[in-house]
Formats: sequence, C-alpha cells, structure tokens
Amino acid sequence: MKPLTETDIRGAFVNCSKGEAKRLSVPRDLAEQPWEDLDFFGWRDPQAPDRAYLAAEVDGRLRAITLRGAQSAMSWQTRRSMCSMCVTTHTGGVALLVAPKAGKAGKQGDSVGAYICSDLACSLYVRGLKDAGAGARMHETLTLEEKIERTVANVAAFIAKVTATA
Ligand SMILES: [Zn+2]
Repeated sequence: MKPLTETDIRGAFVNCSKGEAKRLSVPRDLAEQPWEDLDFFGWRDPQAPDRAYLAAEVDGRLRAITLRGAQSAMSWQTRRSMCSMCVTTHTGGVALLVAPKAGKAGKQGDSVGAYICSDLACSLYVRGLKDAGAGARMHETLTLEEKIERTVANVAAFIAKVTATA
C-alpha cells in the first residue's frame, strides 16, 4: 500500500467521533513501516492494550476503523485459532476484535467482530516475513498473489460490514 501520514490516518476513521480520531494513538514511526509489504496498516494502542486500529484502502478510499478486544484487556485469545483476514493459525496470536459500526448503528451499540492476528501483522504472515510458529499455516496451493488478494478481500469485506448503514 502507499505510505500513510498521520493526517491521512486520522482523517480516515469511519466509526468514531472526530474528537476520538484526533486523540487516539497513531504510531510515530510511520516513516519506518514496511509499506510495500502491507495490505493494510494495523496497530495496537500502547496506552490502551485492549484497543487496536486498522487502516486500509477500499475502492480507492482510505478507511480506518477502531477495534476493541472483545473481553477484558488482558484476555486475548490463548487457544489456537485462525485469523479470519489472513488465515494464519497461531497459539495466543489471534484476538476477537470488535468494531463499533459507523454512524447511528454504532452509537446504539451495534458492532461487528472478527478474529484477527492480535498484532495485526497479517500482511507479514502472508508473505512469510513474520513467523507465527510451527504449523502455523495450513498447506495451501494458493500462490502468494492469491493469498494477498484473499487478505485484501477479507479486510475490505470486514470494513464494508462496519460501514454498512442497513
Ligand atoms: Zn491475520
């Protein structure tokens, strides 16, 4: 993906207030992120361990969403589970993350959840640039290109659920 600036990211949030988008914690080392190898940019909030954020281009527009760990801060999944974005399986590395829906639905408490690599480094797992441990990936006949396409499609579908108004 193309490198993002803090302004790009803060301006792209779809499921929180403008004030929250201004205050939430965006990594300072944006210049050092491996943008070429990222299908989306995801990060955890160092000040609030149950919070995570994700930014991706969907249909040519940058969208960013806020996520929360579904349970209390420290109880990220410990059993072996599979990320629904990149289809990587790891022990303790996948969290159930919940995004409030955009707009009125979100204000009324509506949300969408998904199991996602808890460090949000899906793009790197898919490319084999980050190791999720032995037996982490199912044997698949897909090419790397196809796995990347699948991750991009899964992330876009998740963001579409968050922004869906109906
Ligand atoms: Zn993943």
